[in-house]
Amino acid sequence: MARQRFTGSFTQQLPIPDEGITAAAAVMRSGRLHRYNIAGGDESEAMALEREYAAWQGARFCLAVASGGQAMQIALRAAGVRAGETVLTNAFTLAPVPGAIAAVGAKPVFVETTEDLVIDLDDLSSKAKRTGARYLLLSHMRGHMCDMEALLAVATEIDLTVIEDCAHTMGATWNGRRSGSFGLAGCFSTQTYKHLNSGEGGLLTSDDAEFIARATILSGSYMLYERHGAGPNPDTYTNIRLDTPNMSARMDNLRAALLRPQLQGIEQAICAWNARHDLLAARLAANPEIRIPHRPAAERYVGSSIQFMIPVISAKSARVLLRLLADMGVEVKWFGAKAPAGFTSDHHSWRYAGAQDLPRTDAILASLFDMRLPLTFSLDDCELIADHILDAVTAVAPKVEA
Ligand SMILES: *Cc1c(COP(=O)(O)O)cnc(C)c1O
Repeated sequence: MARQRFTGSFTQQLPIPDEGITAAAAVMRSGRLHRYNIAGGDESEAMALEREYAAWQGARFCLAVASGGQAMQIALRAAGVRAGETVLTNAFTLAPVPGAIAAVGAKPVFVETTEDLVIDLDDLSSKAKRTGARYLLLSHMRGHMCDMEALLAVATEIDLTVIEDCAHTMGATWNGRRSGSFGLAGCFSTQTYKHLNSGEGGLLTSDDAEFIARATILSGSYMLYERHGAGPNPDTYTNIRLDTPNMSARMDNLRAALLRPQLQGIEQAICAWNARHDLLAARLAANPEIRIPHRPAAERYVGSSIQFMIPVISAKSARVLLRLLADMGVEVKWFGAKAPAGFTSDHHSWRYAGAQDLPRTDAILASLFDMRLPLTFSLDDCELIADHILDAVTAVAPKVEA
């Protein structure tokens, strides 16, 4: 009864829409790739992207930058994080998040993770009180949003400034409100594996005029801050322009040209991702060995990847499971591996942050598996992938230690 091997590629995203290719070719023909290199009173592609993204996100301001990591780093600096101070963040996150904190000379302190893969609000509260932290870089890792009203209540009570890492929540909402609009700023990535693809790129949104003015100068505006598509009134710069360093992390017109048509199609892409995610989640949840994180009704997520847990699996069985799946062409990642391979989402591999004791997060990571769901996969592909995962879980089940 050998099942057919899966032959799709977990790293194959959709091509750039023709409109984006045409617009990018026009930028190249013009030679005006730098975002501030505009003829007369034209609007550059970067300016247009900022204007369109701000409107879509419902933010007053948007700044296009070089990467999601740069969006976070600039946001922390523009928000006033000082060298040496503590910045709280999720223990379950990706390397560029503690990296952004380290880049501003601050110290990441990790907050525990719940079994639904979101920040533990009790631990947040106690660590904020213990460390006196003024900032939280909240990472909606793999697209999971915590109870945002409860988070805001905690943040208000202990006077924490919140910056959201929305690398996997572009387009997600909590009770109808967009991810990235809850704190001082939202940081988005347009790197190839996120929800818009320009190879590299980032977007920073905020409703705070002085914050975004600082961020714009930090991003490397060469005092050309009036050439922005969704920036504050030029007067906002008067008091800060000579006190804010230029750290050169701009987005160029070529990338912006690739992104604009993708933004027009994002709602369709979200529906397509969720159809794939929900099919797999339903198939996997039917197996009692597998636990799918609970998604509250308030959360409208974007299922560009799926996470599942096998709560009692041993490290040995997890490795066997990965091997069986790889043999069948199914690329699943396991967060419990001791050595980072291809990605790092384990606080033990961020030694610069200092050793931190996170037993609950460690236990969750040891049981946690993850898979990308590129839109090049059909629903039939997802059925076949589910078959293979269920087969593999059954095959390792006898080795599962209760
Ligand atoms: C990808 C990612 C980022 C950073 O994006 P880059 O554009 O690669 O710098 C930040 N946070 C999370 C959770 C991510 O997955």
